[in-house]
Amino acid sequence: MDNTVTMEKIVSLAKRRGFVFQSSEIYGGQAGAWDYGPAGIELKNRIQRFWWKEMTQLHDDIVGLDAAILMHPRVWEASGHVENFTDPLVDCKKCKQRFRADQIDPEKLEKKECPECGGELTDTRKFNLMFKTNIGPVDDGTGLIYLRPETAQGIYVNYKNIAQSNRMKLPFGIAQVGKAFRNEIVTKNFIFRTCEFEQMEMQYFVKPGQDETWFDYWRDQRWKYYEKLGVRMDKLRWHRHGPGELAHYAKDAYDIEYEFPMGWKELEGVHNRSDYDLSRHQQFSGKDLQYIDQDDGNARYVPYIIETSAGLTRQLLMVLCDAYEDQKVADKGNEDDWRTVLHFHPELAPVTVAVLPLMKKDGLAELAQDIRKDLKEDFPTDYDQGGAIGRRYRRQDEIGTPFCVTIDYQSKEDGTVTVRYRDSMEQVRVPRAELAARIRADIKAYKRA
Ligand code: ATP
Repeated sequence: MDNTVTMEKIVSLAKRRGFVFQSSEIYGGQAGAWDYGPAGIELKNRIQRFWWKEMTQLHDDIVGLDAAILMHPRVWEASGHVENFTDPLVDCKKCKQRFRADQIDPEKLEKKECPECGGELTDTRKFNLMFKTNIGPVDDGTGLIYLRPETAQGIYVNYKNIAQSNRMKLPFGIAQVGKAFRNEIVTKNFIFRTCEFEQMEMQYFVKPGQDETWFDYWRDQRWKYYEKLGVRMDKLRWHRHGPGELAHYAKDAYDIEYEFPMGWKELEGVHNRSDYDLSRHQQFSGKDLQYIDQDDGNARYVPYIIETSAGLTRQLLMVLCDAYEDQKVADKGNEDDWRTVLHFHPELAPVTVAVLPLMKKDGLAELAQDIRKDLKEDFPTDYDQGGAIGRRYRRQDEIGTPFCVTIDYQSKEDGTVTVRYRDSMEQVRVPRAELAARIRADIKAYKRA
């Protein structure tokens, strides 16, 4: 064992402990798609909830939405996706591998030389990333419909509905979490880039001229979010898009990048989208999408949009990589003992409290079950009575359970239990009656070591 974090270790733990499985594995797997197992879905739900709380509960001017995946095909013409949502694609004539031209060394691309085998590359051609399907009984092209490649458009087309039904005044935001689909040419690095994934997007509508101030505000907010999430901030950095990198809608764009085991990669984008989106929808739908500003003499204008766009499944990968540690521990006097531990924020961990009777016999198992019943209402719990206690702690460490509660003979006598902390492996005795309050206080006070 050593303490480096590699994608191989992450993928292997994810499978072994039920976080993420390959889609359709028994058929050899489906590229670009992954399934979230019992631990994975708990983690994913909690990351989503953390983000949702941050956006809607902690910001008074943001409301939520859940729009359909299937949208009118004109949406994607208006948004620019039909025309512009393409990747440049090249194939190697010899080894048949496919590449994104923008990810190949420009010199090799110029010489049309395959980066893998040196064979000859085809000309670069544009490849649209949207999945097409058909709605209705006849498949003759008239029922063409797309699987949405981003959740943002569902927000834009509902902007007026929400402004009116909820009497929203500018500036205000709309948050949404949901699936998105992209026919990615290269899907590698596990769940980092997939064809089916989930996004957490927030679109903030502002008065033109105030967009730059709000853009700065949201960059600051998003940075602070990751601090709260308890990840290592020295692994995050900003990347500003240069003129050649800016998307067709963007006035200014920054990415938050994380240093994954395979290098620095985009985690989330914060974009100033100008009035591009609503102007285009106004033009294509023929509907008036202007805002009437009662605080400014009923002035009419198309709002600017500041977007924060994060991948939920990509954030899950980040959280896994960030939490992962192979740690040398000498807690049992054995110098060469190692444990794999996930240092999740306690609010993200799939299990918050594991209840472990020291022995199955002498009424300890029954007492432990009874204590678990107490805790269940407040926390996601687990119960494990199999094997040596040290081994059981290790199993919980591997899925990132922050608190283990051990019931022993003393518990029967004086009503105290032992709380064992994941990160420090420290153990303290706590009266049973104070257990839930203690855990709640520890969660609140949590700081990444
Ligand atoms: P790239 O240029 O890397 O293909 P992008 O810049 O087009 O991606 P956005 O459209 O800005 O990505 O998407 C916003 C966020 O959605 C990304 O920061 C990422 O977290 C997530 N995301 C985008 N594409 C994928 C994907 N194929 N798989 C998983 N997450 C994705």
